[in-house]
Amino acid sequence: MTLPVPAHIRSLVPYPPGKPMEELERELGITGVVKLASNENALGPSPKALAAIAAALPGLHRYPDGSGFYLKKALAERLGVEATEIVLGNGSNELIELLAEIFLAPGDEAILSHPTFLVYQKMIQARGGCAKVVPLQDFGHDLAAIAGQVTARTRMIFLDNPNNPAGTVFGQAAFRDFLAQLPAHLLVVLDEAYVDFVSPELAWDSVAYRLAQPPVAILRTFSKAYGLAGLRIGYGVMAPEVSDLANRIRQPFNVNTLAQIGALAALADREHLAATLAMTREGIARLAAGVAALGCRPYPSQTNFFLVDLGRPAKPVYEAMLHRGVIVRPMAAYDLPSFLRITPGTPAENERCLAALAAALDPARP
Ligand SMILES: *Cc1c(COP(=O)(O)O)cnc(C)c1O
Repeated sequence: MTLPVPAHIRSLVPYPPGKPMEELERELGITGVVKLASNENALGPSPKALAAIAAALPGLHRYPDGSGFYLKKALAERLGVEATEIVLGNGSNELIELLAEIFLAPGDEAILSHPTFLVYQKMIQARGGCAKVVPLQDFGHDLAAIAGQVTARTRMIFLDNPNNPAGTVFGQAAFRDFLAQLPAHLLVVLDEAYVDFVSPELAWDSVAYRLAQPPVAILRTFSKAYGLAGLRIGYGVMAPEVSDLANRIRQPFNVNTLAQIGALAALADREHLAATLAMTREGIARLAAGVAALGCRPYPSQTNFFLVDLGRPAKPVYEAMLHRGVIVRPMAAYDLPSFLRITPGTPAENERCLAALAAALDPARP
Protein backbone atom coordinates (compact mmCIF):
# COMPACT_ATOMS: atom_id res chain seq x y z
CA MET A 1 0.00 0.00 0.00
CA THR A 2 1.25 3.45 -0.83
CA LEU A 3 -0.63 6.14 1.03
CA PRO A 4 -1.06 9.44 -0.81
CA VAL A 5 1.31 11.64 1.21
CA PRO A 6 3.25 14.58 -0.25
CA ALA A 7 6.57 13.74 -1.91
CA HIS A 8 8.48 16.05 0.43
CA ILE A 9 7.28 13.95 3.39
CA ARG A 10 7.92 10.62 1.66
CA SER A 11 11.51 11.64 0.88
CA LEU A 12 12.42 12.60 4.47
CA VAL A 13 15.25 10.50 5.88
CA PRO A 14 14.69 9.28 9.46
CA TYR A 15 17.22 10.43 12.07
CA PRO A 16 19.79 7.60 12.33
CA PRO A 17 18.46 5.44 15.17
CA GLY A 18 21.11 5.09 17.86
CA LYS A 19 20.95 1.98 20.03
CA PRO A 20 20.57 2.17 23.78
CA MET A 21 24.06 1.92 25.28
CA GLU A 22 23.02 -1.23 27.16
CA GLU A 23 22.14 -2.96 23.85
CA LEU A 24 25.43 -1.91 22.33
CA GLU A 25 27.35 -3.27 25.30
CA ARG A 26 25.46 -6.57 25.05
CA GLU A 27 26.16 -6.87 21.32
CA LEU A 28 29.84 -6.02 21.60
CA GLY A 29 30.26 -8.12 24.75
CA ILE A 30 31.82 -5.19 26.63
CA THR A 31 30.84 -2.95 29.53
CA GLY A 32 31.53 0.66 30.44
CA VAL A 33 30.98 2.14 26.98
CA VAL A 34 32.03 5.78 26.78
CA LYS A 35 29.80 8.07 24.69
CA LEU A 36 31.57 11.10 23.27
CA ALA A 37 29.35 11.52 20.22
CA SER A 38 26.44 13.83 21.05
CA ASN A 39 27.94 16.91 22.76
CA GLU A 40 26.41 15.95 26.10
CA ASN A 41 27.76 17.11 29.45
CA ALA A 42 29.99 14.39 30.92
CA LEU A 43 29.71 16.00 34.34
CA GLY A 44 26.03 15.02 34.40
CA PRO A 45 23.11 17.23 35.41
CA SER A 46 23.42 19.92 38.07
CA PRO A 47 22.89 18.32 41.52
CA LYS A 48 20.56 21.21 42.27
CA ALA A 49 18.46 20.33 39.23
CA LEU A 50 18.31 16.69 40.36
CA ALA A 51 17.14 17.70 43.83
CA ALA A 52 14.48 20.03 42.45
CA ILE A 53 13.24 17.32 40.09
CA ALA A 54 13.07 14.74 42.88
CA ALA A 55 11.03 17.17 44.99
CA ALA A 56 8.58 17.70 42.10
CA LEU A 57 7.87 14.03 41.39
CA PRO A 58 4.78 13.72 43.65
CA GLY A 59 3.06 16.42 41.57
CA LEU A 60 3.26 14.52 38.30
CA HIS A 61 -0.49 13.83 38.18
CA ARG A 62 -0.95 17.55 37.36
CA TYR A 63 -0.50 19.06 33.91
CA PRO A 64 2.56 21.28 33.57
CA ASP A 65 2.37 25.06 33.84
CA GLY A 66 1.57 25.80 30.21
CA SER A 67 2.86 29.36 30.58
CA GLY A 68 6.27 28.33 31.95
CA PHE A 69 5.84 31.19 34.40
CA TYR A 70 8.80 30.79 36.76
CA LEU A 71 11.35 29.73 34.17
CA LYS A 72 10.40 32.53 31.78
CA LYS A 73 10.56 35.02 34.64
CA ALA A 74 14.07 33.86 35.61
CA LEU A 75 15.27 33.87 31.99
CA ALA A 76 13.75 37.31 31.35
CA GLU A 77 15.56 38.74 34.39
CA ARG A 78 18.81 37.11 33.37
CA LEU A 79 18.60 38.33 29.76
CA GLY A 80 17.01 41.76 30.28
CA VAL A 81 13.94 41.02 28.14
CA GLU A 82 10.21 40.71 28.79
CA ALA A 83 8.91 37.26 29.76
CA THR A 84 6.52 37.55 26.81
CA GLU A 85 9.52 37.57 24.48
CA ILE A 86 10.58 34.08 25.60
CA VAL A 87 9.16 30.87 24.15
CA LEU A 88 9.96 27.53 25.77
CA GLY A 89 10.36 24.40 23.67
CA ASN A 90 10.63 20.65 24.05
CA GLY A 91 14.32 21.09 23.30
CA SER A 92 15.38 23.88 20.99
CA ASN A 93 14.61 21.37 18.24
CA GLU A 94 10.92 22.00 18.83
CA LEU A 95 11.47 25.73 18.42
CA ILE A 96 13.20 25.14 15.08
CA GLU A 97 10.17 23.12 14.04
CA LEU A 98 7.64 25.71 15.27
CA LEU A 99 9.43 28.56 13.50
CA ALA A 100 9.57 26.60 10.24
CA GLU A 101 5.87 25.86 10.63
CA ILE A 102 5.09 29.55 11.14
CA PHE A 103 7.26 31.01 8.40
CA LEU A 104 7.38 28.44 5.59
CA ALA A 105 4.59 27.62 3.17
CA PRO A 106 5.28 25.01 0.46
CA GLY A 107 7.70 26.44 -2.09
CA ASP A 108 9.09 29.14 0.23
CA GLU A 109 12.84 29.39 0.49
CA ALA A 110 15.08 29.00 3.51
CA ILE A 111 18.85 29.44 3.46
CA LEU A 112 21.29 27.40 5.49
CA SER A 113 24.99 26.57 5.48
CA HIS A 114 26.62 23.26 4.75
CA PRO A 115 27.63 21.57 6.91
CA THR A 116 25.40 22.74 9.73
CA PHE A 117 22.97 21.25 12.25
CA LEU A 118 21.07 18.54 10.32
CA VAL A 119 17.69 19.40 11.85
CA TYR A 120 17.26 22.66 9.86
CA GLN A 121 17.17 20.87 6.51
CA LYS A 122 14.72 18.33 7.86
CA MET A 123 12.31 20.95 9.19
CA ILE A 124 12.47 22.95 5.94
CA GLN A 125 11.74 19.82 3.93
CA ALA A 126 8.92 18.74 6.24
CA ARG A 127 7.14 22.05 5.44
CA GLY A 128 7.64 21.60 1.70
CA GLY A 129 10.12 24.48 1.74
CA CYS A 130 13.01 24.88 -0.63
CA ALA A 131 16.41 24.74 1.08
CA LYS A 132 19.19 26.84 -0.43
CA VAL A 133 22.54 25.60 0.76
CA VAL A 134 25.66 27.77 1.06
CA PRO A 135 28.97 26.01 1.78
CA LEU A 136 30.98 27.08 4.81
CA GLN A 137 34.08 29.04 3.88
CA ASP A 138 37.19 28.05 5.85
CA PHE A 139 34.77 26.22 8.16
CA GLY A 140 32.87 29.42 8.99
CA HIS A 141 29.47 30.70 7.83
CA ASP A 142 29.87 32.61 4.55
CA LEU A 143 27.58 35.47 5.55
CA ALA A 144 28.17 37.46 2.34
CA ALA A 145 27.24 34.49 0.16
CA ILE A 146 24.17 33.79 2.30
CA ALA A 147 22.98 37.41 1.94
CA GLY A 148 23.57 37.05 -1.81
CA GLN A 149 21.14 34.10 -1.98
CA VAL A 150 18.17 36.01 -0.57
CA THR A 151 15.21 36.47 -2.93
CA ALA A 152 11.64 37.75 -2.57
CA ARG A 153 10.64 34.16 -1.63
CA THR A 154 13.17 33.77 1.19
CA ARG A 155 11.39 33.46 4.53
CA MET A 156 14.10 32.12 6.86
CA ILE A 157 17.87 32.01 7.31
CA PHE A 158 19.34 29.46 9.73
CA LEU A 159 22.68 30.23 11.39
CA ASP A 160 24.21 28.21 14.19
CA ASN A 161 26.75 30.30 16.05
CA PRO A 162 28.93 28.47 17.05
CA ASN A 163 28.51 26.17 14.07
CA ASN A 164 27.93 22.47 14.58
CA PRO A 165 30.06 20.63 13.42
CA ALA A 166 32.88 23.12 12.74
CA GLY A 167 32.91 24.80 16.17
CA THR A 168 33.60 28.22 14.61
CA VAL A 169 31.97 31.57 15.47
CA PHE A 170 31.29 34.88 13.77
CA GLY A 171 31.47 38.16 15.69
CA GLN A 172 28.98 40.91 16.35
CA ALA A 173 30.30 43.31 13.67
CA ALA A 174 30.03 40.62 10.97
CA PHE A 175 26.48 39.81 12.07
CA ARG A 176 25.44 43.47 12.16
CA ASP A 177 26.81 44.02 8.64
CA PHE A 178 25.03 40.87 7.49
CA LEU A 179 21.65 41.98 8.89
CA ALA A 180 22.06 45.38 7.25
CA GLN A 181 22.14 43.69 3.83
CA LEU A 182 18.88 41.78 4.36
CA PRO A 183 15.31 42.76 3.53
CA ALA A 184 12.83 42.87 6.43
CA HIS A 185 10.49 40.16 5.10
CA LEU A 186 12.27 37.16 6.64
CA LEU A 187 13.32 35.67 9.98
CA VAL A 188 16.92 35.00 10.94
CA VAL A 189 17.20 32.01 13.30
CA LEU A 190 20.36 32.40 15.38
CA ASP A 191 20.90 29.05 17.09
CA GLU A 192 23.19 29.54 20.08
CA ALA A 193 23.12 25.99 21.47
CA TYR A 194 26.82 26.27 22.39
CA VAL A 195 26.99 29.95 23.33
CA ASP A 196 28.04 29.22 26.92
CA PHE A 197 31.27 27.62 25.71
CA VAL A 198 32.45 30.59 23.62
CA SER A 199 35.61 32.14 25.07
CA PRO A 200 35.00 35.58 26.63
CA GLU A 201 37.06 37.50 23.99
CA LEU A 202 34.79 36.17 21.22
CA ALA A 203 31.45 36.24 23.05
CA TRP A 204 28.83 38.94 22.36
CA ASP A 205 25.26 39.56 23.39
CA SER A 206 22.85 38.76 20.58
CA VAL A 207 19.61 39.32 22.48
CA ALA A 208 19.04 42.92 21.34
CA TYR A 209 18.84 41.68 17.73
CA ARG A 210 15.46 40.06 18.38
CA LEU A 211 14.04 43.50 17.57
CA ALA A 212 16.24 44.14 14.52
CA GLN A 213 14.98 44.35 10.95
CA PRO A 214 14.77 41.61 9.86
CA PRO A 215 13.97 40.12 13.29
CA VAL A 216 16.28 37.51 14.81
CA ALA A 217 15.00 34.54 16.85
CA ILE A 218 17.75 33.50 19.27
CA LEU A 219 17.60 29.85 20.30
CA ARG A 220 19.33 28.34 23.33
CA THR A 221 19.16 25.01 25.08
CA PHE A 222 19.60 23.29 28.42
CA SER A 223 20.88 20.18 26.62
CA LYS A 224 24.56 21.05 26.37
CA ALA A 225 26.26 23.26 28.99
CA TYR A 226 23.42 22.66 31.47
CA GLY A 227 23.56 18.88 31.15
CA LEU A 228 19.80 18.27 30.73
CA ALA A 229 19.60 16.73 27.24
CA GLY A 230 17.30 13.95 28.42
CA LEU A 231 14.71 16.36 29.83
CA ARG A 232 14.19 18.15 26.47
CA ILE A 233 14.08 21.85 27.14
CA GLY A 234 15.27 24.89 25.24
CA TYR A 235 14.09 28.45 24.77
CA GLY A 236 13.90 31.15 22.17
CA VAL A 237 14.14 34.92 22.60
CA MET A 238 11.98 36.59 19.97
CA ALA A 239 10.25 39.86 19.11
CA PRO A 240 6.74 39.96 20.62
CA GLU A 241 5.18 39.48 17.17
CA VAL A 242 7.16 36.26 16.67
CA SER A 243 6.72 34.89 20.19
CA ASP A 244 2.99 35.53 19.89
CA LEU A 245 2.84 33.42 16.72
CA ALA A 246 4.87 30.66 18.40
CA ASN A 247 2.51 30.66 21.37
CA ARG A 248 -0.48 30.28 19.06
CA ILE A 249 0.96 27.31 17.23
CA ARG A 250 2.65 25.38 20.03
CA GLN A 251 0.95 22.68 22.07
CA PRO A 252 -0.34 24.13 25.34
CA PHE A 253 1.78 21.76 27.44
CA ASN A 254 4.81 21.38 25.17
CA VAL A 255 7.36 21.56 28.00
CA ASN A 256 6.90 19.07 30.80
CA THR A 257 6.91 19.85 34.52
CA LEU A 258 10.25 18.23 35.34
CA ALA A 259 11.95 20.02 32.46
CA GLN A 260 10.72 23.42 33.68
CA ILE A 261 11.74 22.72 37.27
CA GLY A 262 15.10 21.18 36.36
CA ALA A 263 15.99 24.02 34.00
CA LEU A 264 15.10 26.67 36.60
CA ALA A 265 17.40 25.04 39.17
CA ALA A 266 20.18 24.47 36.62
CA LEU A 267 20.05 28.12 35.56
CA ALA A 268 20.79 29.16 39.14
CA ASP A 269 23.66 26.67 39.58
CA ARG A 270 26.62 28.81 38.50
CA GLU A 271 29.09 26.41 40.11
CA HIS A 272 27.99 23.52 37.93
CA LEU A 273 28.24 25.66 34.81
CA ALA A 274 31.74 26.85 35.79
CA ALA A 275 32.85 23.26 36.44
CA THR A 276 31.39 22.20 33.09
CA LEU A 277 33.25 24.93 31.21
CA ALA A 278 36.53 24.10 32.94
CA MET A 279 36.16 20.37 32.28
CA THR A 280 35.30 21.07 28.64
CA ARG A 281 38.24 23.40 27.99
CA GLU A 282 40.72 21.09 29.67
CA GLY A 283 39.23 18.08 27.88
CA ILE A 284 39.45 19.65 24.44
CA ALA A 285 43.04 20.77 25.10
CA ARG A 286 44.06 17.28 26.23
CA LEU A 287 42.26 15.50 23.36
CA ALA A 288 43.52 17.93 20.73
CA ALA A 289 47.11 17.45 21.89
CA GLY A 290 46.56 13.68 22.02
CA VAL A 291 45.12 13.35 18.52
CA ALA A 292 47.84 15.64 17.12
CA ALA A 293 50.46 13.37 18.69
CA LEU A 294 48.83 10.50 16.78
CA GLY A 295 49.31 12.39 13.51
CA CYS A 296 45.72 13.63 13.14
CA ARG A 297 44.67 17.24 12.72
CA PRO A 298 42.43 18.75 15.42
CA TYR A 299 40.45 21.90 14.57
CA PRO A 300 40.01 24.68 17.12
CA SER A 301 36.49 24.95 18.54
CA GLN A 302 34.39 27.37 20.59
CA THR A 303 32.05 24.58 21.72
CA ASN A 304 32.07 21.35 23.71
CA PHE A 305 33.20 19.30 20.69
CA PHE A 306 35.90 19.51 18.05
CA LEU A 307 36.61 18.08 14.63
CA VAL A 308 39.58 15.85 13.87
CA ASP A 309 40.77 15.19 10.34
CA LEU A 310 42.23 11.70 10.24
CA GLY A 311 43.54 12.12 6.70
CA ARG A 312 41.89 8.80 5.79
CA PRO A 313 38.35 7.39 5.75
CA ALA A 314 36.99 7.87 9.26
CA LYS A 315 34.28 5.20 9.24
CA PRO A 316 36.59 2.19 9.81
CA VAL A 317 38.38 4.12 12.57
CA TYR A 318 35.03 4.98 14.15
CA GLU A 319 34.03 1.31 14.01
CA ALA A 320 37.30 0.11 15.51
CA MET A 321 36.91 2.64 18.35
CA LEU A 322 33.34 1.46 18.86
CA HIS A 323 34.58 -2.10 19.33
CA ARG A 324 36.84 -0.75 22.06
CA GLY A 325 33.82 0.83 23.74
CA VAL A 326 34.35 4.45 22.69
CA ILE A 327 31.60 6.12 20.66
CA VAL A 328 32.56 9.21 18.65
CA ARG A 329 30.73 10.75 15.70
CA PRO A 330 31.83 9.94 12.14
CA MET A 331 31.15 12.91 9.87
CA ALA A 332 30.15 11.30 6.56
CA ALA A 333 26.56 12.55 7.02
CA TYR A 334 28.05 16.08 7.04
CA ASP A 335 30.13 15.35 3.89
CA LEU A 336 33.35 15.20 5.91
CA PRO A 337 34.27 11.53 5.37
CA SER A 338 37.80 11.77 6.82
CA PHE A 339 36.62 13.53 10.00
CA LEU A 340 35.47 12.53 13.46
CA ARG A 341 33.66 14.86 15.86
CA ILE A 342 34.59 14.26 19.48
CA THR A 343 32.92 15.59 22.64
CA PRO A 344 35.31 15.64 25.59
CA GLY A 345 34.30 13.50 28.57
CA THR A 346 35.78 13.14 32.02
CA PRO A 347 39.60 12.99 32.17
CA ALA A 348 39.43 9.17 32.39
CA GLU A 349 37.06 8.99 29.41
CA ASN A 350 39.38 11.22 27.39
CA GLU A 351 42.32 8.88 28.04
CA ARG A 352 40.20 5.93 26.94
CA CYS A 353 39.26 7.81 23.80
CA LEU A 354 42.90 8.49 22.92
CA ALA A 355 43.90 4.90 23.60
CA ALA A 356 41.04 3.64 21.41
CA LEU A 357 41.98 6.06 18.62
CA ALA A 358 45.63 5.01 18.81
CA ALA A 359 44.67 1.35 18.56
CA ALA A 360 42.17 2.01 15.78
CA LEU A 361 44.72 3.93 13.71
CA ASP A 362 47.33 1.24 14.16
CA PRO A 363 45.69 -2.15 14.54
CA ALA A 364 49.11 -3.76 15.10
CA ARG A 365 49.39 -2.04 18.47
CA PRO A 366 48.48 -4.07 21.52
C1 LIG B 1 22.54 20.06 20.19
C2 LIG B 1 22.06 21.19 19.36
C3 LIG B 1 20.83 21.78 19.62
C4 LIG B 1 20.05 21.36 20.83
O1 LIG B 1 18.89 20.75 20.60
P1 LIG B 1 17.90 20.42 21.81
O2 LIG B 1 16.66 20.08 21.10
O3 LIG B 1 17.78 21.68 22.63
O4 LIG B 1 18.50 19.29 22.58
C5 LIG B 1 20.40 22.84 18.85
N1 LIG B 1 21.18 23.30 17.86
C6 LIG B 1 22.39 22.79 17.60
C7 LIG B 1 23.24 23.38 16.53
C8 LIG B 1 22.85 21.70 18.33
O5 LIG B 1 24.03 21.15 18.04
